[in-house]
Amino acid sequence: MSATPANPLALDILAVAAHRDDVEQTCGGTLLKMAQMGHRTGILDLTKGEMGTRGSAEDRAREALDAAKILCVSWRHALDVPDGRVENTWENRLKVARVIRETTPRVLILPYWEGRHPDHYTASILGYEACFLAGLKKLEIGAEPHRPFKIIYATLYYDIRPTFVVDITDQFEARFDSLMAYKTQFSDQEAGKGIFPARAEIRARVEAMARYYGMLAGVTYGEPFLQKEVGLVEDLTLIPVKSI
Ligand SMILES: [Zn+2]
Repeated sequence: MSATPANPLALDILAVAAHRDDVEQTCGGTLLKMAQMGHRTGILDLTKGEMGTRGSAEDRAREALDAAKILCVSWRHALDVPDGRVENTWENRLKVARVIRETTPRVLILPYWEGRHPDHYTASILGYEACFLAGLKKLEIGAEPHRPFKIIYATLYYDIRPTFVVDITDQFEARFDSLMAYKTQFSDQEAGKGIFPARAEIRARVEAMARYYGMLAGVTYGEPFLQKEVGLVEDLTLIPVKSI
């Protein structure tokens, strides 16, 4: 499915996340795979990362663009929501709703709505409610009303059984490279040594998670997602993932 030529910003798939580097950890392989299939993909980061222990917001902006290139993302933007203080306010909902109208995605990827970090679960609720607002005809915030057809949740940060997994076996290495593009965060260094694991440890963790979710679906590496709706099946003989 290609984007409408009338709108140069139009995307097929938009991933919304609280922090730069969240998408790289939770659904970067899927975004790359979708781009390789010919879909136009985008990333909206709600914050710019000014509270990070390592590096500045400018460093992170540069690194986020490098990561976007590796993931073949067509569009990436960061809003000015304060880092560490993602709140589900009317103002923030309008900011996200405006982006949804401008980029008209068919599919929206949000973080899962529970988790350890308040920014992550707040981004989930905020994103969902922004989708609702974006479709209200009488809400005048520029651009035409639009709601994504499908909202799915990237669950990697939370220990919950996904409703489906995307096979990212062929995208796994590039996805890891996109995470490592955040050099100020992930290269081995003194600052924040106590809270940031060494690169080899990160690699082992990322691989273990991708292997685990891949195993659930019978592939090598996978990324987990949850949809609130039921699955719809046309032909029983084509349902993937082996039962026995
Ligand atoms: Zn995060």
